[in-house]
Amino acid sequence: MSGKEIENGNLVHDGIRVLGSMGDKACPLGCIYCFVNAPGYQGPGKVDTPDGMQELAYNIEGGNIKIIQPVCDMELFLVKNWPEKLMQLTTHGLSIDISTKLALEKNEIEHLKAVDQKLKEQGALLHVAVSLTRLHDWKEIEQFTPSSEQRIVTAQKLSEAGIATSIALRPTLPFVSAGEFEELIQRTAPFVDSYLSGPLYLTPKMKQYMNTKHPDYQVEIFSPKWMKGKPKIEAVNTYNAVAVVKGIAAQYERPLFDSTTQVVEYSILKRRPKP
Ligand code: SF4
Repeated sequence: MSGKEIENGNLVHDGIRVLGSMGDKACPLGCIYCFVNAPGYQGPGKVDTPDGMQELAYNIEGGNIKIIQPVCDMELFLVKNWPEKLMQLTTHGLSIDISTKLALEKNEIEHLKAVDQKLKEQGALLHVAVSLTRLHDWKEIEQFTPSSEQRIVTAQKLSEAGIATSIALRPTLPFVSAGEFEELIQRTAPFVDSYLSGPLYLTPKMKQYMNTKHPDYQVEIFSPKWMKGKPKIEAVNTYNAVAVVKGIAAQYERPLFDSTTQVVEYSILKRRPKP
């Protein structure tokens, strides 16, 4: 496989991070803002196939890739044989980033801890972003996900297991009050490394929700670098909400980033053993 073929491959990479997907189905959790189930979405190729593994290896050999994000459009923990698949990825010796909305069980956290240990032996780490968009009324937009309380418990358990953990306030919801954001950050800052903001894409269901509940919103056009084909997508302008969250996080001495790569790089630096 030549370098040109890799550039045109099925995985997506931005020079530092490689993104793939796993499993055979679209995510069943059905968050209404999620592009995965929106018409026309084209995700990155599968990384858990022989071709995907080969392409991943070529991407890594050919550049400065530091982070593997193996599942960006599915819950890893709903993928069959995820423990073996995740452990297999540790052979590359690069940091791995995953995100979740699920309430993880003790054995799942134990497995993640084993993956993290394996990576730390190679100078890398596992980073987990627990996705938590708000504390209250989450069911309006995330009908099938565990409660915010359960996700906070999961984040704390991950952190106590020594795993670099962040909170993905992603999408950053412009209709959540500063008080609710503050409560969320106040409760999670003691055990997370950082926070992650993100766009609120106007999927058909999200648009309907906004038009009904919060019609006074402004639209922006995004072209996410990491989405195959780089389509132009409508999103809600969340500039003010991100500024509010950033200010609150700073009060609790935690940074807010808008890119997954930055969040992982921050945890790598923060947790690097001191000479
Ligand atoms: S859990 Fe994640 S991948 Fe699944 S629908 Fe929600 S946002 Fe999309």
